[in-house]
Amino acid sequence: MMGTTISNQLLGSTARWTASVRARESMRDGRLFHDPWADALAGPSGAAWIEQRSDDSVIPIVIRTRYFDDFLQRITTQEGVQQVVLLAAGLDTRAFRLSWPEGTRVFGLDQPSVLEEKGQILNSGGGQPHCERRVIGADLALPWQEALIGAGFDANAPTVWLLEGFLFYLANETITQLLDAVTSLAAPGSWLGFDIINSAMLTSPITRKWIEMQASSGAPWIGVMDDPVTFLAVRGWQATLTQAGADDAHYGRWPFPILPTTMPGVPHNWYVTARKAT
Ligand code: SAM
Repeated sequence: MMGTTISNQLLGSTARWTASVRARESMRDGRLFHDPWADALAGPSGAAWIEQRSDDSVIPIVIRTRYFDDFLQRITTQEGVQQVVLLAAGLDTRAFRLSWPEGTRVFGLDQPSVLEEKGQILNSGGGQPHCERRVIGADLALPWQEALIGAGFDANAPTVWLLEGFLFYLANETITQLLDAVTSLAAPGSWLGFDIINSAMLTSPITRKWIEMQASSGAPWIGVMDDPVTFLAVRGWQATLTQAGADDAHYGRWPFPILPTTMPGVPHNWYVTARKAT
């Protein structure tokens, strides 16, 4: 059994928060993506949460969504990877809102209750996936690999894995166990994407308000990684880091000063992408 994690209704509600960010962005002129289901998925509790948030406070989530949209599209269209696994997919609708090359199979894993709610809303909204979609209710703090394989995952095929808006909710030990599990299932030539914070993010005065909001909402950020590139290198992945505001993650929308991506001693919320050696 994996280490401690926070897996409960409160964590499920974080999926409504990110859906509410996508709903607000979808209504904007010059939006970075369009998610027509996000408003219904966010529901009243997501709407109440976003109501309390300024645009600037949620811009990292907006940029992250677009960044990983582009990442998934690039790997499936240009690298020929046909298998996609979204771990902690939450109320993500990429299977429906992005166009995927023919033959792409997208697996989404999350808590069963979150996926059931999502299925009901997407069905009633007439959503049709643009890929072969497989949904797996699982506790990702427990072994989940058999469930994924049982749903048709091919461990011999290169895969693009995404863990978005997830790892900072887990204890560091659980992050390691989860990424070890991904590594063991990832065929050579697979790709990996995730976002992760560094330890300064938990202690800096710059980020204190957000960190306190998460903690007081019952979904504290606890998981950190100070050197994702080395962490992944020892597991056979070649990784690159970026963050909101950098040239490849700006989209003309970052409202804050731009810090160098690996500047020590300051908060970072990195977008990590990596390829497993062939
Ligand atoms: N990736 C989605 C996104 O970016 O919108 C969802 C992010 S949401 C902030 C975090 C997700 O992690 C929630 O959907 C929650 O249900 C899921 N989660 C947290 N702990 C989990 C666990 N132990 N097993 C399965 N899912 C979990």
